[in-house]
Amino acid sequence: MNPNNTLYIVVPCYKEQEVLPETSKRLRAKLIELREAGKISDKSRVMFVNDGSSDNTWPMIAELHEKEPEFFSGVNLSRNRGHQNALLAGLMTAVNYADMIVSMDADLQDDVNAVDGMVDAYHEGFEVVYGVRSKRDTDTFFKRFTAEGFYKVMKALGVDIVFNHADYRLMSRRAVEGLAEFSEVNLFLRGIVPQIGYKWTTVTYERAERFAGESKYPLKKMLAFAADGITSFSVKPIRLVFSAGVIVFLVSLVMLLYALISKLMGSTTAGWTSLMGSIWLIGGIQLLSLGIVGEYIGKIYNETKRRPRFIIERVLNK
Ligand code: UDP
Ligand code: MG
Repeated sequence: MNPNNTLYIVVPCYKEQEVLPETSKRLRAKLIELREAGKISDKSRVMFVNDGSSDNTWPMIAELHEKEPEFFSGVNLSRNRGHQNALLAGLMTAVNYADMIVSMDADLQDDVNAVDGMVDAYHEGFEVVYGVRSKRDTDTFFKRFTAEGFYKVMKALGVDIVFNHADYRLMSRRAVEGLAEFSEVNLFLRGIVPQIGYKWTTVTYERAERFAGESKYPLKKMLAFAADGITSFSVKPIRLVFSAGVIVFLVSLVMLLYALISKLMGSTTAGWTSLMGSIWLIGGIQLLSLGIVGEYIGKIYNETKRRPRFIIERVLNK
Protein backbone atom coordinates (compact mmCIF):
# COMPACT_ATOMS: atom_id res chain seq x y z
CA MET A 1 0.00 0.00 0.00
CA ASN A 2 1.19 3.47 -0.86
CA PRO A 3 2.48 5.19 2.30
CA ASN A 4 1.61 8.59 0.84
CA ASN A 5 -2.00 8.46 1.79
CA THR A 6 -3.33 11.84 2.77
CA LEU A 7 -6.69 12.31 1.09
CA TYR A 8 -8.39 15.64 0.45
CA ILE A 9 -11.99 15.69 -0.72
CA VAL A 10 -12.56 18.96 -2.59
CA VAL A 11 -16.17 20.13 -2.76
CA PRO A 12 -17.13 23.30 -4.67
CA CYS A 13 -20.18 24.95 -3.12
CA TYR A 14 -22.39 27.62 -4.56
CA LYS A 15 -25.38 28.53 -2.43
CA GLU A 16 -25.47 25.08 -0.87
CA GLN A 17 -26.66 25.95 2.64
CA GLU A 18 -29.48 23.38 2.42
CA VAL A 19 -27.21 20.44 1.73
CA LEU A 20 -24.06 21.37 3.64
CA PRO A 21 -25.09 19.91 7.01
CA GLU A 22 -25.84 16.52 5.46
CA THR A 23 -22.86 16.56 3.09
CA SER A 24 -20.42 17.40 5.87
CA LYS A 25 -21.93 14.71 8.09
CA ARG A 26 -21.57 12.00 5.46
CA LEU A 27 -18.09 13.03 4.39
CA ARG A 28 -16.95 13.19 8.00
CA ALA A 29 -18.21 9.64 8.52
CA LYS A 30 -16.42 8.55 5.35
CA LEU A 31 -13.13 10.05 6.55
CA ILE A 32 -13.46 8.25 9.88
CA GLU A 33 -14.22 4.96 8.15
CA LEU A 34 -11.26 5.23 5.78
CA ARG A 35 -8.92 6.32 8.57
CA GLU A 36 -9.92 3.36 10.71
CA ALA A 37 -9.36 1.02 7.78
CA GLY A 38 -5.84 2.46 7.53
CA LYS A 39 -6.39 3.57 3.95
CA ILE A 40 -5.87 7.28 4.52
CA SER A 41 -3.83 9.29 7.00
CA ASP A 42 -5.16 11.32 9.90
CA LYS A 43 -4.15 14.46 8.05
CA SER A 44 -6.91 13.84 5.50
CA ARG A 45 -9.56 16.54 5.20
CA VAL A 46 -12.74 17.61 3.47
CA MET A 47 -12.05 20.92 1.73
CA PHE A 48 -15.10 23.03 0.94
CA VAL A 49 -14.63 25.76 -1.66
CA ASN A 50 -17.14 28.56 -1.43
CA ASP A 51 -17.71 29.93 -4.91
CA GLY A 52 -18.85 33.41 -3.90
CA SER A 53 -22.21 32.32 -2.48
CA SER A 54 -24.48 35.08 -1.27
CA ASP A 55 -26.19 32.85 1.29
CA ASN A 56 -24.95 31.25 4.48
CA THR A 57 -22.58 28.79 2.80
CA TRP A 58 -19.30 30.40 3.84
CA PRO A 59 -20.22 31.06 7.50
CA MET A 60 -21.27 27.42 7.69
CA ILE A 61 -17.96 26.22 6.25
CA ALA A 62 -16.04 28.50 8.61
CA GLU A 63 -17.96 27.09 11.53
CA LEU A 64 -17.28 23.50 10.48
CA HIS A 65 -13.58 24.28 10.36
CA GLU A 66 -13.72 26.11 13.68
CA LYS A 67 -15.35 23.17 15.44
CA GLU A 68 -13.49 20.29 13.79
CA PRO A 69 -10.34 21.42 11.97
CA GLU A 70 -9.21 17.77 11.95
CA PHE A 71 -11.99 17.05 9.44
CA PHE A 72 -12.90 20.25 7.61
CA SER A 73 -11.01 22.99 5.85
CA GLY A 74 -12.32 25.78 3.69
CA VAL A 75 -11.40 28.04 0.78
CA ASN A 76 -13.35 31.19 0.06
CA LEU A 77 -13.26 32.67 -3.44
CA SER A 78 -13.44 36.44 -3.77
CA ARG A 79 -16.55 36.13 -5.95
CA ASN A 80 -18.54 33.63 -8.00
CA ARG A 81 -16.31 32.16 -10.72
CA GLY A 82 -18.28 29.09 -11.73
CA HIS A 83 -18.01 25.43 -10.89
CA GLN A 84 -14.90 24.62 -12.95
CA ASN A 85 -12.87 27.50 -11.57
CA ALA A 86 -13.98 26.82 -8.00
CA LEU A 87 -12.96 23.20 -8.44
CA LEU A 88 -9.57 24.20 -9.83
CA ALA A 89 -9.02 26.61 -6.92
CA GLY A 90 -9.73 23.75 -4.52
CA LEU A 91 -7.44 21.32 -6.35
CA MET A 92 -4.58 23.81 -6.48
CA THR A 93 -4.93 24.56 -2.77
CA ALA A 94 -5.30 20.94 -1.71
CA VAL A 95 -2.32 19.78 -3.74
CA ASN A 96 -0.07 21.50 -1.19
CA TYR A 97 -1.26 19.15 1.51
CA ALA A 98 -2.60 16.01 -0.14
CA ASP A 99 -1.26 12.89 -1.84
CA MET A 100 -4.58 12.13 -3.49
CA ILE A 101 -7.52 14.43 -4.14
CA VAL A 102 -11.12 13.50 -4.78
CA SER A 103 -13.40 16.15 -6.29
CA MET A 104 -17.10 15.88 -5.71
CA ASP A 105 -20.29 17.97 -5.95
CA ALA A 106 -21.84 19.29 -2.78
CA ASP A 107 -25.34 18.04 -3.50
CA LEU A 108 -24.67 14.33 -2.74
CA GLN A 109 -25.59 13.27 -6.26
CA ASP A 110 -22.24 11.56 -6.35
CA ASP A 111 -22.35 8.46 -4.16
CA VAL A 112 -19.95 9.09 -1.26
CA ASN A 113 -19.25 5.35 -1.00
CA ALA A 114 -17.55 5.35 -4.39
CA VAL A 115 -14.61 7.06 -2.66
CA ASP A 116 -13.64 3.65 -1.22
CA GLY A 117 -13.14 2.20 -4.67
CA MET A 118 -11.20 5.27 -5.78
CA VAL A 119 -8.85 5.12 -2.80
CA ASP A 120 -8.33 1.38 -3.35
CA ALA A 121 -7.47 2.01 -6.99
CA TYR A 122 -5.02 4.71 -5.91
CA HIS A 123 -3.29 2.21 -3.64
CA GLU A 124 -3.13 -0.21 -6.57
CA GLY A 125 -1.15 2.40 -8.46
CA PHE A 126 -3.75 4.26 -10.50
CA GLU A 127 -3.26 8.01 -10.62
CA VAL A 128 -6.57 9.10 -12.06
CA VAL A 129 -9.81 7.33 -11.14
CA TYR A 130 -12.95 8.51 -12.93
CA GLY A 131 -16.33 8.13 -11.26
CA VAL A 132 -18.74 6.95 -13.94
CA ARG A 133 -22.52 6.90 -13.55
CA SER A 134 -24.03 3.50 -14.14
CA LYS A 135 -27.49 4.86 -14.95
CA ARG A 136 -29.45 8.04 -14.91
CA ASP A 137 -32.82 6.88 -13.65
CA THR A 138 -33.12 9.75 -11.23
CA ASP A 139 -32.48 12.45 -13.82
CA THR A 140 -35.41 13.85 -15.75
CA PHE A 141 -35.73 12.66 -19.35
CA PHE A 142 -34.67 16.09 -20.52
CA LYS A 143 -31.53 16.19 -18.40
CA ARG A 144 -30.59 12.67 -19.45
CA PHE A 145 -31.18 13.38 -23.10
CA THR A 146 -29.19 16.62 -23.13
CA ALA A 147 -26.39 15.23 -20.99
CA GLU A 148 -25.92 12.04 -22.99
CA GLY A 149 -26.25 13.97 -26.24
CA PHE A 150 -23.50 16.22 -24.94
CA TYR A 151 -21.06 13.32 -24.49
CA LYS A 152 -21.90 11.97 -27.93
CA VAL A 153 -21.40 15.31 -29.67
CA MET A 154 -18.12 15.79 -27.85
CA LYS A 155 -16.91 12.36 -28.96
CA ALA A 156 -18.01 13.02 -32.54
CA LEU A 157 -16.02 16.24 -32.52
CA GLY A 158 -12.94 14.37 -31.42
CA VAL A 159 -12.77 15.51 -27.80
CA ASP A 160 -11.33 12.82 -25.57
CA ILE A 161 -13.72 12.54 -22.63
CA VAL A 162 -14.90 9.68 -20.44
CA PHE A 163 -18.56 8.81 -21.12
CA ASN A 164 -20.98 9.67 -18.31
CA HIS A 165 -18.23 10.99 -16.11
CA ALA A 166 -18.82 14.35 -14.44
CA ASP A 167 -16.23 15.91 -12.19
CA TYR A 168 -16.31 13.14 -9.59
CA ARG A 169 -12.80 11.72 -9.68
CA LEU A 170 -9.67 10.98 -7.75
CA MET A 171 -6.33 12.37 -8.86
CA SER A 172 -2.91 11.70 -7.43
CA ARG A 173 -0.82 14.68 -6.44
CA ARG A 174 1.31 14.12 -9.52
CA ALA A 175 -1.75 14.22 -11.77
CA VAL A 176 -2.93 17.47 -10.18
CA GLU A 177 0.54 18.95 -10.66
CA GLY A 178 0.21 17.92 -14.31
CA LEU A 179 -3.13 19.71 -14.44
CA ALA A 180 -1.47 22.86 -13.10
CA GLU A 181 0.65 22.95 -16.26
CA PHE A 182 -2.44 23.59 -18.35
CA SER A 183 -2.61 27.33 -18.00
CA GLU A 184 -5.63 27.94 -20.21
CA VAL A 185 -8.32 30.27 -18.97
CA ASN A 186 -11.30 28.56 -20.61
CA LEU A 187 -11.31 25.64 -18.30
CA PHE A 188 -13.01 22.38 -19.24
CA LEU A 189 -11.62 19.91 -16.75
CA ARG A 190 -13.34 16.85 -18.16
CA GLY A 191 -11.47 17.35 -21.39
CA ILE A 192 -8.14 18.28 -19.84
CA VAL A 193 -7.76 15.49 -17.28
CA PRO A 194 -7.55 12.72 -19.93
CA GLN A 195 -4.81 14.81 -21.60
CA ILE A 196 -2.67 14.55 -18.48
CA GLY A 197 -2.31 10.84 -19.01
CA TYR A 198 -0.91 8.44 -16.36
CA LYS A 199 -2.45 5.13 -15.41
CA TRP A 200 -6.19 5.52 -15.04
CA THR A 201 -9.29 3.50 -14.36
CA THR A 202 -12.97 4.02 -13.65
CA VAL A 203 -15.28 3.29 -10.73
CA THR A 204 -19.02 3.08 -11.40
CA TYR A 205 -21.65 4.42 -9.06
CA GLU A 206 -25.33 5.20 -9.14
CA ARG A 207 -26.15 8.84 -9.46
CA ALA A 208 -28.68 9.93 -6.86
CA GLU A 209 -31.05 12.84 -6.90
CA ARG A 210 -29.94 16.18 -5.60
CA PHE A 211 -30.26 15.93 -1.83
CA ALA A 212 -31.77 19.40 -1.40
CA GLY A 213 -31.80 22.77 -3.09
CA GLU A 214 -31.94 23.16 -6.83
CA SER A 215 -29.54 22.62 -9.71
CA LYS A 216 -27.07 25.43 -10.24
CA TYR A 217 -26.80 24.35 -13.85
CA PRO A 218 -29.88 25.58 -15.69
CA LEU A 219 -30.12 24.94 -19.44
CA LYS A 220 -28.43 28.23 -20.26
CA LYS A 221 -25.32 27.37 -18.25
CA MET A 222 -25.36 23.81 -19.63
CA LEU A 223 -25.30 25.08 -23.21
CA ALA A 224 -22.52 27.55 -22.41
CA PHE A 225 -20.60 24.72 -20.76
CA ALA A 226 -21.00 22.47 -23.80
CA ALA A 227 -19.96 25.25 -26.19
CA ASP A 228 -16.94 25.92 -24.01
CA GLY A 229 -15.99 22.25 -24.04
CA ILE A 230 -16.21 21.99 -27.81
CA THR A 231 -14.43 25.21 -28.68
CA SER A 232 -11.67 24.55 -26.13
CA PHE A 233 -10.75 21.19 -27.57
CA SER A 234 -11.80 20.90 -31.15
CA VAL A 235 -11.06 22.71 -34.39
CA LYS A 236 -13.62 20.51 -36.15
CA PRO A 237 -16.21 23.32 -36.42
CA ILE A 238 -13.63 25.29 -38.44
CA ARG A 239 -13.00 22.24 -40.61
CA LEU A 240 -16.75 22.05 -41.25
CA VAL A 241 -16.70 25.61 -42.63
CA PHE A 242 -13.78 24.64 -44.82
CA SER A 243 -15.58 21.53 -46.09
CA ALA A 244 -18.68 23.60 -46.81
CA GLY A 245 -16.44 25.99 -48.76
CA VAL A 246 -15.06 23.16 -50.88
CA ILE A 247 -18.55 21.82 -51.57
CA VAL A 248 -19.98 25.21 -52.54
CA PHE A 249 -16.96 25.86 -54.74
CA LEU A 250 -17.46 22.57 -56.57
CA VAL A 251 -21.16 23.22 -56.96
CA SER A 252 -20.31 26.64 -58.34
CA LEU A 253 -18.25 25.05 -61.11
CA VAL A 254 -21.23 22.89 -62.06
CA MET A 255 -23.52 25.93 -61.95
CA LEU A 256 -21.08 27.87 -64.10
CA LEU A 257 -21.11 25.09 -66.68
CA TYR A 258 -24.89 24.94 -66.57
CA ALA A 259 -25.19 28.71 -67.00
CA LEU A 260 -22.77 28.69 -69.92
CA ILE A 261 -24.59 25.85 -71.68
CA SER A 262 -27.93 27.60 -71.15
CA LYS A 263 -26.46 30.75 -72.66
CA LEU A 264 -25.07 28.92 -75.67
CA MET A 265 -28.46 27.29 -76.22
CA GLY A 266 -29.80 30.82 -76.26
CA SER A 267 -32.46 30.20 -73.66
CA THR A 268 -31.39 32.88 -71.15
CA THR A 269 -32.06 36.55 -70.53
CA ALA A 270 -29.08 38.86 -70.92
CA GLY A 271 -26.97 39.18 -67.76
CA TRP A 272 -28.26 36.00 -66.13
CA THR A 273 -25.17 33.93 -66.86
CA SER A 274 -22.65 36.35 -65.43
CA LEU A 275 -24.82 37.00 -62.36
CA MET A 276 -25.36 33.29 -61.71
CA GLY A 277 -21.68 32.53 -62.18
CA SER A 278 -20.38 35.27 -59.93
CA ILE A 279 -22.82 34.59 -57.09
CA TRP A 280 -21.81 30.95 -56.81
CA LEU A 281 -18.13 31.47 -57.44
CA ILE A 282 -17.78 34.32 -54.96
CA GLY A 283 -19.82 32.46 -52.34
CA GLY A 284 -17.64 29.39 -52.67
CA ILE A 285 -14.38 31.33 -52.60
CA GLN A 286 -15.50 33.29 -49.55
CA LEU A 287 -16.39 30.20 -47.57
CA LEU A 288 -13.14 28.53 -48.58
CA SER A 289 -11.15 31.58 -47.49
CA LEU A 290 -13.00 31.73 -44.20
CA GLY A 291 -12.10 28.11 -43.60
CA ILE A 292 -8.44 28.80 -44.35
CA VAL A 293 -8.36 31.86 -42.09
CA GLY A 294 -10.14 29.77 -39.46
CA GLU A 295 -7.45 27.10 -39.66
CA TYR A 296 -4.85 29.72 -38.74
CA ILE A 297 -6.99 31.17 -35.98
CA GLY A 298 -7.35 27.63 -34.63
CA LYS A 299 -3.56 27.33 -34.62
CA ILE A 300 -3.16 30.68 -32.85
CA TYR A 301 -5.80 29.63 -30.34
CA ASN A 302 -3.99 26.41 -29.57
CA GLU A 303 -0.67 28.22 -29.23
CA THR A 304 -2.04 30.83 -26.85
CA LYS A 305 -3.25 28.08 -24.54
CA ARG A 306 0.37 27.05 -23.96
CA ARG A 307 -0.58 23.53 -23.05
CA PRO A 308 2.27 21.32 -21.91
CA ARG A 309 3.68 19.35 -24.82
CA PHE A 310 4.41 16.33 -22.67
CA ILE A 311 4.38 15.12 -19.10
CA ILE A 312 6.99 12.54 -18.17
CA GLU A 313 5.76 9.58 -16.19
CA ARG A 314 9.17 8.08 -15.36
CA VAL A 315 12.78 8.20 -16.51
CA LEU A 316 15.05 5.14 -16.43
CA ASN A 317 18.67 6.20 -16.39
CA LYS A 318 21.37 4.45 -14.37
N1 UDP B 1 -21.27 25.15 -8.32
C1 UDP B 1 -20.27 26.10 -8.09
N2 UDP B 1 -20.36 27.32 -8.73
C2 UDP B 1 -21.38 27.63 -9.60
C3 UDP B 1 -22.37 26.63 -9.85
C4 UDP B 1 -22.28 25.40 -9.20
O1 UDP B 1 -19.33 25.87 -7.33
O2 UDP B 1 -21.40 28.74 -10.13
C5 UDP B 1 -21.17 23.85 -7.63
C6 UDP B 1 -22.41 23.43 -6.87
O3 UDP B 1 -22.42 23.94 -5.57
C7 UDP B 1 -22.29 21.91 -6.88
C8 UDP B 1 -21.60 21.64 -8.20
O4 UDP B 1 -21.01 22.87 -8.61
O5 UDP B 1 -21.46 21.44 -5.84
C9 UDP B 1 -22.54 21.10 -9.27
O6 UDP B 1 -23.66 21.94 -9.39
P1 UDP B 1 -25.14 21.35 -9.53
O7 UDP B 1 -25.32 20.16 -8.62
O8 UDP B 1 -26.10 22.47 -9.32
O9 UDP B 1 -25.16 20.90 -11.04
P2 UDP B 1 -25.95 19.62 -11.68
O10 UDP B 1 -25.64 18.42 -10.83
O11 UDP B 1 -27.39 19.97 -11.65
O12 UDP B 1 -25.41 19.50 -13.07
MG1 MG C 1 -25.90 18.27 -8.92
